[in-house]
Amino acid sequence: MDRLYTFGQYLKRKFQINIKKVPISIPGFTCPNIDGTVARGGCVFCENESFSPNFQKEKFTLNLNSTQNPLLQKQIKALKIQFFNTVELYKKIYGSKKFIIYFQSFTNTYAPFSTLKTLYEEALKLPDVIGLSIGTRTDSITDETLNYLKELSKDYEIWIEYGIQSSNDETLKKINRGHNFENVKETIKKTKDLELNVCGHLIFGLPGESQKEMLQSVKDTIDLNIDSIKFHPLYVTDNTLLAIEYKKGKFTPITEEDYIDTLIKAIKMLPQNISIQRMTAGTQNLLAPDWCRNKSKQISHIYKALLKEGIKL
Ligand code: SF4
Repeated sequence: MDRLYTFGQYLKRKFQINIKKVPISIPGFTCPNIDGTVARGGCVFCENESFSPNFQKEKFTLNLNSTQNPLLQKQIKALKIQFFNTVELYKKIYGSKKFIIYFQSFTNTYAPFSTLKTLYEEALKLPDVIGLSIGTRTDSITDETLNYLKELSKDYEIWIEYGIQSSNDETLKKINRGHNFENVKETIKKTKDLELNVCGHLIFGLPGESQKEMLQSVKDTIDLNIDSIKFHPLYVTDNTLLAIEYKKGKFTPITEEDYIDTLIKAIKMLPQNISIQRMTAGTQNLLAPDWCRNKSKQISHIYKALLKEGIKL
């Protein structure tokens, strides 16, 4: 890649207007890696109730075979409130005309199918919404959901965002991911066979990984025929297993120099058709590294490094 190809550019090319993703956090959603179905505690970097009893106040016992969901009306209401609050802002700041609902927090295909269908359809009914982007795990999406999303994709812009993090099984074990890379390969193949859009998410600086391993994950992810990618550094936030390790001196975060060097090498590996959705990330409750505190500074350092490497913005 010798010119940065962002997801924003992809949307602009396809729809000719300014489109923004609206992040939504559905109350009551959880993750099989937290609730004990796959594991407990979640990924080592995940902020969840295992480390903070008040983190998720809304408890909802998930029964994947049940059509009963006592929280459904509350979830629909939360979806609408979050949507309207955010789009007003996006219209003012960015002049956005259309929106993609981004089901972001936790595992957004991990609920009874009837709940998912209702929430996705309610989202698509919101004004100026042209599609969905659904964040999930590769071990938590059924054929029924995939086939249904395939149907929706005939009329809407549908994306599935899979957390991959690393293609190295040792690393996936270390971070308590709860699935291996083979599972990632199988699910993404199935998703691409249905011609659904896939965004893959990778983290640089995972415990014990060298740059060689991080770039191997980039190569293995490109080989999955994905359409878009997100990169971010591993940072430590409160209420995580990683925070405990960090405080004991057992985990050292990646430096900004190493992160940017790895990121530039990764971007150079990308074929021109894979758009980039994220090159770094900010967060609340940050413990370390300090350089992750200021996102605009990070972005400006990344842009400088890209230009120095001859990658046009
Ligand atoms: S898959 Fe996502 S929600 Fe689940 S434990 Fe990992 S980071 Fe947390």
